[in-house]
Order: sequence, then structure tokens, then C-alpha cells
Amino acid sequence: MIIVMEPNAREEDIARVEAKIRENGLKVHISRGTERTLIGAVGDERKLEPKVFEILPGVERSLHILKPYKLVAREWHQANTTIDIGGNIIGGKEIQVIAGPCSVETDEQMAKAAAAAAAAGARLMRGGAFKPRTSPYAFQGKGVEGLTMLKNAAAPMKLPVVTELMDVRMLDTFLEYGVDVIQIGARNMQNFDLLKEVGRVDVPIILKRGLSATISEWLMAAEYIAAGGNLKIIFCERGIRTFETAYRNVLDVTAIPVLKRETHLPVIVDPSHAGGKAWMVPALSCAAVAAGADGLLIEVHPSPLDAWCDADQALSPDEFSALMKTLAGICGAVGRALPLPDDIKTKRSA
Ligand code: PEP
Ligand code: MN
Repeated sequence: MIIVMEPNAREEDIARVEAKIRENGLKVHISRGTERTLIGAVGDERKLEPKVFEILPGVERSLHILKPYKLVAREWHQANTTIDIGGNIIGGKEIQVIAGPCSVETDEQMAKAAAAAAAAGARLMRGGAFKPRTSPYAFQGKGVEGLTMLKNAAAPMKLPVVTELMDVRMLDTFLEYGVDVIQIGARNMQNFDLLKEVGRVDVPIILKRGLSATISEWLMAAEYIAAGGNLKIIFCERGIRTFETAYRNVLDVTAIPVLKRETHLPVIVDPSHAGGKAWMVPALSCAAVAAGADGLLIEVHPSPLDAWCDADQALSPDEFSALMKTLAGICGAVGRALPLPDDIKTKRSA
């Protein structure tokens, strides 16, 4: 951290800053220029807050040199981190698509959704058992029963499952039921106690971007998980709230290359919650992959018109299958791969 003194700072002001730096266990490096003095705090500067110095007399401003996040930062770990979820690698050359309904409803709906997801080439299945709904009177999810339904539907298709954890008290149940990937939803991105707890487990985490979160806040939220020891973190851009009302959220495509530069961790995109309408999902999915996303999280329902939650944005199995074919072409054009079941079959029989 650098503390810039005012031109008329007195020796006692400099000494006060120096003492404060030492109090925090850092070393001091003073550089006296012709007009002003710069004081460097050398050591783990992330412990220090610029504000602590800015209120002191004679201090003009104080700034961090290092990024406030460390474990998730690319400057700390240059190579891309890949995360293996049941043999499906996220963050490598292949794009991974996670598909399934917004919420777990019935065994039949889940079996059809799993079959549709697998047939089109999705490698993981989603389905919410605990739903964060705006209204307390809306369907809140099937709860623990939903976890069983999700696992039962996905198992025959060999699809690992992704589901949202809203309450830290359910974490042990999630582990007991063998949830393969824990999703932290947009509304909980800054639920720091929840982040600390999922930081202690050895299960991959999808960390969705908060509705109005800056990229720096999002990275810091991931740092909470990483600081607990869990570095299996996947960022998921799902659209942010802006002044625009023509769609549910604005998919921040710019966030994809920015995050890929800032962090070594994988970045995926949820085009369904971004657009909020099924017809927007193909265009947003293509944009995401073209911009460098490592995967997609897409809502697919066997019968969208009957969905209990987010019916407007769910793709039908046919729409999903058509989208996967389009995406395979885009992936090829940007040096990525999306092996579809047909390609895999052809390769195996060749
Ligand atoms: C979801 O994926 O079902 C969901 C509720 O998403 P978000 O947290 O992004 O709103
Ligand atoms: Mn949804």
C-alpha cells in the first residue's frame, strides 16, 4: 500500500503513519520527494484499509498496490484452473453445458428433463429443490424430497447434479444426498457466512453474480470460499439489474473476458435468468461462448408451458437440442469443443 502525504505534511504526521503501519505488522519504506513524501507499507497489505490512513492528518490519499483478492487472482496463479465434475472438465477446451428445469417438480418431469438434457449433449443436470422466490406465497421448491428426485432422475443418464443451497443449515444434507455441485444463487452472493461454510467442503461451487454486484465484489465473494480452502469455484454470470426493463436482466458479456483476465477459475454463463425469455436464450448462449465462457447453465423443461417456475425462459427439449448444434459450430470457430452425443458415438464406432 502507498500512502501519499500532503505537500505540507509535518514530520509528526509522517511518524504517525509509520507507527500505524508497524502496528499492523508491516514494514515501512519512506520516499522523500521534492514536493511530497510517499510512504510504502511493505508486507501483506490486504490487511490494511486505505481509510485507516486517509483520516490521519497530513495524509492526502492511500491506495492498494495489490488486488484485494489473492487466491482467486490470476496474478497469483497464471494457468487456468480446471474443475473435474464426474469426469467432465470445466475450464478446459471443452465447453460444458448444464441443463435442466428451474425447479424440481415431479419424478416424471425430472426423468423427461434428464433424458432431454443427456440426449442433446448436456453433461450435467440442474434443478432447484430450494427456490429463492420473490414472493413468500410462490412455490418454494420441493425441499429435501427434491434432492432425491434430482439425483434419481440424473443417475441413469450419468449426469452429475447442480442445485442451489440457500441455507447453511442444509449443507450437511446436501453432502449426504451427494449433490455434485453446490450453486450459490445471485441473492446469496454476499451471504458471507454461507460462503465461509461452502469454503470448508470439497464440493465444486457455482457462484452466481449478485443482481447488482460489481466484478470486484464478486471476486471478493469467491475469495471468501477460497480462503476456507475450497478452490473449486465456478463463476456464473447471470445478468445484472440495470435501468432497462425490456428483458429480465442485462447479460454482461463484457464480464466474461474481464473475469477470465482477473481470475484463473472457470467462468460460465446462465442465459436463461439473464434474458428471462426462451427466445433470447440461443442468442445469449452464442454470445457467451463466443466471448470466452467455459460453459452454460440453461433452463430446459419437458413442457415449458407447464413449468411451476420461470416458465417463460425454459427451452423445450427440441429447442435445446437445436441450440446445442448451433453452439457446437460456435465452439469450433473459437477454438473450443462441444462434443455432441452423435460425435461421441461416431468416434467410438470409428
Ligand atoms: C436459478 O438458477 O434457479 C436461480 C434462482 O438463479 P439466480 O440466483 O441467478 O437468480
Ligand atoms: Mn429459474
